[in-house]
Amino acid sequence: NKFQALGLGEDIIKAVNDMGFETPSEVQEKAIPILLNDDTDIVALAQTGTGKTAAFGFPLIEKIDHKSRITQGLILSPTRELCLQITNELKNYSKYISGLHTVAIYGGASISEQAKQIKRGAQIVVATPGRMQDMINRKMVDISNVEYCVLDEADEMLNMGFFEDINAILSHTPEDKNTWLFSATMPKEVASIAKRFMTAPIEITV
Ligand code: AMP
Repeated sequence: NKFQALGLGEDIIKAVNDMGFETPSEVQEKAIPILLNDDTDIVALAQTGTGKTAAFGFPLIEKIDHKSRITQGLILSPTRELCLQITNELKNYSKYISGLHTVAIYGGASISEQAKQIKRGAQIVVATPGRMQDMINRKMVDISNVEYCVLDEADEMLNMGFFEDINAILSHTPEDKNTWLFSATMPKEVASIAKRFMTAPIEITV
């Protein structure tokens, strides 16, 4: 399996085989080795359908300490649908890693139910910005130990008016975390987010 050459561990390779992925996509080939080996920020220009979920999901799952219950990875995505889709993919990728919990946080569903899931211990939280901000305000989630923050479809999130929420959410995360930004386009709003919140990001284009 060609994914092995990217440096992924056996548990993920097993899941990759189950899913029937044979060859890494371009964004996976470019991003995975960097994210696995370097503690760096990245800006990746990639459309949906290019396999970007696995491009950030595989390294995130590898880097998370699944023996600790602390929330270490935060993924922000623009919509409830995308949030659920990412969560399902991550659960698939990590199905052979016991104790790794991924929880979806999004509006239009019971906040207390989501808070309950977080309380049980979620190393990875996948969230829409509005609900995330709400749960931070209500002290239902603690992101003060997040080591990896993924901004997925950053251009869409900004189009939808989430700039202030993203700003507020990131201010609750540690200064020294790594930020992995994915966007289909690079309007100046996305460039300014990158400039404001990221340190010397490596740029990837597919
Ligand atoms: P994404 O761009 O992350 O939304 O992925 C698009 C679709 O391609 C999803 O259904 C993935 O499960 C699938 N996919 C991702 N990477 C690969 C791969 N290397 N080989 C085959 N299918 C893939």
